Amino acid sequence: MSVLALGGAGYIGSHAVYQLLDREREVVVVDNLQTGHREAVPANIPFYEGDVRDRQFLKEVFAKEPIDQVMMFAANSLVGVSMKEPLQYFDNNVYGTQVLLETMVDAGVSDIVFSSTAAVYGEPNQVPIKECDPAMPQNPYGETKLAMEKMMKWCREAHDLRYVSLRYFNVAGARPSGAIGEDHDPETHLVPIILETALGKRKSITIYGDDYDTKDGTCIRDYVHVEDLIDAHIRALDYLKDGGVSDVFNLGSSTGFTVKEIIGAARAVTGKEIPSKIGERRPGDPTKLIASPEKAKAVLGWNPKRTDIDTIIEDAWNWHHHHPDGYGGR
Ligand code: UDP
Repeated sequence: MSVLALGGAGYIGSHAVYQLLDREREVVVVDNLQTGHREAVPANIPFYEGDVRDRQFLKEVFAKEPIDQVMMFAANSLVGVSMKEPLQYFDNNVYGTQVLLETMVDAGVSDIVFSSTAAVYGEPNQVPIKECDPAMPQNPYGETKLAMEKMMKWCREAHDLRYVSLRYFNVAGARPSGAIGEDHDPETHLVPIILETALGKRKSITIYGDDYDTKDGTCIRDYVHVEDLIDAHIRALDYLKDGGVSDVFNLGSSTGFTVKEIIGAARAVTGKEIPSKIGERRPGDPTKLIASPEKAKAVLGWNPKRTDIDTIIEDAWNWHHHHPDGYGGR
């Protein structure tokens, strides 16, 4: 039987595909290549280019392949764009997930591991954030992910769908071999932008606001290595297979770093100057997001290994340094 990775050609999805193959699992990839890269998926596994909103296409994939579990990575995920294009986010994310769940119900496939986000919490009242804390998104991206979680919850009641929703904090790093990594166009995420600046591809990095109520005025985030993140996904697949109940888990490290601290760490790792300047706040950005990952540790047995921020940046740097043009440079 196979795991279907929707969005398996993207940054996080491709790391899942590689780890599933490491563990000798069968895997099938669907991706519309809107933001994913065909080169990020090994050539010898089934790959279907198409959109999750295309009902007929998805139905055919489920008919052709022996799928018993699903990993859903396919989504738009940029806070800033979602503020400007909320309807695009509802269409791709919420409607796309609706079509996927309908297809799964029709095909009799019950298990799904779902990419959710810390953005569902909005501006937290306290950190570290627990899964039982209020979910009050402050941008359309987080709102769509919360809507998708709620859709799965009601499908659990009505159709025996079984899900694990993983609320990611800030994912960074790359497969230590350097085979795959992060390549977005345009890039908006902090760690790759810092490293592109280190490579000289950008003159400087703009820090989005230094008047937040934090120790140095810049936003605090909790960074998790993509390899550890994916380990939690595979544990979640096994948890569902073993009869685990549907649930929601945070994936983070319980440690927060300011934007300035991340730039400082990257200067140390790369030995480059990395010029920075202060800009306006980015609309939709909460001040501080730090996870309590205790539930994932207790229930899924998650034991993240590459938690050190220098390790996360070193692995990301290994990818960027060797692939300055991302997959385009291959
Ligand atoms: N950030 C920044 N400059 C950039 C990109 C990001 O100052 O060029 C900040 C952003 O405001 C946030 C943090 O870095 O506080 C992480 O942003 P990212 O987009 O990587 O992830 P998000 O937290 O939005 O999921």
